[in-house]
Amino acid sequence: MIAVIGAGIVGSLIAREINKYIEDVYIFEAKNRIAAGVTKGNSAIIHGGYDDEPGSVRAEFCYRGNKLYDEISQELSVEVKRVGSHVVALNEDDLKVIDELEKKAIQNGVKEYEILDKAELLEMEPNLNKSALRSLYCPIAAITEPWEAVIQAAKSVEINGGKVLKNKKLVEVKKKDNKFELFFEDGSSYIADLVINAAGLYADEVAKLFGDEIPYIFPRKGEYILLGKDVKYVNSVIFPTPSKITKGCLVMPTVDGGYLAGPTAQNIKSKQDLSTTQEGLLEVKEKSLRLVPTLDFSRNVVKTFAGLRPETKEKDFYIDVGGGNVIHVSGIRSPGLTAAPAIAKYVVEYLIQEKLHINLEKRKNYINHIEKVPHLVEEDYEHWKRVIQEDPDAGEMICYCNKITKKEIKEAIKNGARTLDDVKFATRASFGECQGSFCIPKILKIISEETGLRPEEVLQNEKGSWIINSEVRAI
Ligand SMILES: Cc1cc2nc3c(=O)[nH]c(=O)nc-3n(C[C@H](O)[C@H](O)[C@H](O)COP(=O)(O)OP(=O)(O)OC[C@H]3O[C@@H](n4cnc5c(N)ncnc54)[C@H](O)[C@@H]3O)c2cc1C
Repeated sequence: MIAVIGAGIVGSLIAREINKYIEDVYIFEAKNRIAAGVTKGNSAIIHGGYDDEPGSVRAEFCYRGNKLYDEISQELSVEVKRVGSHVVALNEDDLKVIDELEKKAIQNGVKEYEILDKAELLEMEPNLNKSALRSLYCPIAAITEPWEAVIQAAKSVEINGGKVLKNKKLVEVKKKDNKFELFFEDGSSYIADLVINAAGLYADEVAKLFGDEIPYIFPRKGEYILLGKDVKYVNSVIFPTPSKITKGCLVMPTVDGGYLAGPTAQNIKSKQDLSTTQEGLLEVKEKSLRLVPTLDFSRNVVKTFAGLRPETKEKDFYIDVGGGNVIHVSGIRSPGLTAAPAIAKYVVEYLIQEKLHINLEKRKNYINHIEKVPHLVEEDYEHWKRVIQEDPDAGEMICYCNKITKKEIKEAIKNGARTLDDVKFATRASFGECQGSFCIPKILKIISEETGLRPEEVLQNEKGSWIINSEVRAI
């Protein structure tokens, strides 16, 4: 059996890649749901690969990963919108940074970029600060929903005979001949022939369980403000010029039609501190207004959130074989989402097959294409009408903001959703402007009816995050 520790974008895509050769792949995830670590809270940009330090591991995988998202999009039915990105120069100093970025793009082998003058830039992005001077435009930059890629990759693993196990926090490892015995917090244990450590922020701690010392990981927080869909702000991803530690506070459209401003970049101590702060949000406002002065933070804010980057002093990914048949995929900070499909191929095609000399043969019965539950309002109206005739649940709107029907929510539950967040990330229900104010009680009731859980047992996400304390009146 091959074990992958961690169901983020990295672990799930590696598991899917291994599963093309071997049926017996297990993903072990510590939390009670997948895609709930670093992969949940980030900018969700498929970067162009022009700004990573030439010669770094990040640069090696970012551009290749960007290209592979076409395959991911087609095979896993994941939405990838190639909206493009601009790095915008607002002053003379910024112009020098744009020149440096262009040099890096050439060194990194990125051909898909153009330097736009003020007129070209403002024609494409009329809401930008009118003092913008120039931009480095990268048409291959894209936006996606990272959790959707994880959900679909995990589904692919299950359809192809593998297993995705939640509430499985790896706490101890014993070497047994050439194998590993893996012990989990819930008391269970499994024997694995090969282990992939893709534990995100905790990959350094997981490496220690195998007796391996790899670069120490510290969290760097990024705070964001999400804006609604009713005002049009930008068409593409708008970056300021980058600093040494971050790509900067950006403004971008989201896949479902809203806008995102952020992130900040602050080193913190706790790997669990996802709080937003007054200072952080003020910084986001101030910096994003410099790029797009029309942003309306007084009326248009949907929510704020934060994500934690797994940083190392080396500022780079660490991807290598440890002591025995274990591979550590660690320090996967930005652009890890972009790089993940290329990292997955490298792990399987080079580290497993060449470095560990494990011969793999492609499976003949492997199912490549994974369908997504159709989002009914995006379907042709006549088709939707026919679906409603067959199944009245398709005509019952539960989430009005994102127009999600009861049928879609029931499908998500059939596919394993048990918490409100599971349903939210699988369907976008409660993800819209009202953030679930109207639909959460209805979704809770559907989860309860479909699973047999009592309403008080239905959680928002983590253990203890119940919504209903006790029955006051029937819902
Ligand atoms: C603010 C911010 C902005 C970013 N923006 C971008 C961007 O726009 N584009 C881009 O390409 N990248 C971006 N990134 C980087 C990207 O989000 C990450 O590189 C990527 O999500 C890392 O994925 P992962 O699978 O390695 O980690 P995770 O998603 O954290 O997955 C690791 C999983 O392992 C589990 N786990 C941990 N310990 C154990 C254990 N002991 N046993 C079992 N399971 C365990 C965790 O619960 C978690 O689910 C950004 C990151 C941040 C924080």
